[in-house]
Amino acid sequence: MIVAEGKPIKEILEMIAPYDKILLVGCKGCVTVCSTGGEKEVGILASALRLARRAQGRPLEVKEMTLERQCDTEYLEPMREDVDRYPAILSIACGAGIQFLAEKFRKHPVLPGVDTQFIGVAEEQGVWTERCQACGNCVLDRTGGICPVARCSKSIFNGPCGGSKGGKCEIDSQVDCGWQLIYDRLKELGQLDKLETVQPVKDWSKSRDGGPRKRVREDLKI
Ligand code: SF4
Ligand code: SF4
Repeated sequence: MIVAEGKPIKEILEMIAPYDKILLVGCKGCVTVCSTGGEKEVGILASALRLARRAQGRPLEVKEMTLERQCDTEYLEPMREDVDRYPAILSIACGAGIQFLAEKFRKHPVLPGVDTQFIGVAEEQGVWTERCQACGNCVLDRTGGICPVARCSKSIFNGPCGGSKGGKCEIDSQVDCGWQLIYDRLKELGQLDKLETVQPVKDWSKSRDGGPRKRVREDLKI
């Protein structure tokens, strides 16, 4: 899932300062799962903004709405009825959802209510950790299912580096060395021989670092 974190209320209040009413839009996708931008968070943020603005002597009208997905055209329909009644949209979906609203509702400023952080997993209740950096050419078959891009601080493909110590990374003694994790996992699987193959220089042109990517499935196009 994509993991995001709510922006500080002070920052949001500054963004919406020019407006007397806003359309606040959440998403039932990833940001609901990471407790940042779902229906519940829309309600909490709307109340907090109304209270703060009342305290400032400038009441704010907030229309609350939570879409199935903000990153998919078919789910934007419920917004169309309301959008023209509001001068600005505040979105608490991930960065992709926020941008999609900005593209589809071009007359409206679309403001971000969250900071999008990474692609990760819910390790335990209230703890999300990064797993993938969308490199566009997955090598998990070679690394025991552990990502060298996301889990190694240097994203190296032939690790570990000389800084690995006691299973921890040199950048932070609290952070597991990704390559130690890879080694341990390959050992568990009886596949340590995979480490004998030197990985070639990675083609980063397929990664998001190679520019914005697009995926087309002709069989799904109408
Ligand atoms: S190798 Fe690339 S695609 Fe696979 S998990 Fe890592 S970053 Fe993601
Ligand atoms: S210590 Fe391990 S995780 Fe840290 S940069 Fe070196 S190989 Fe990567």
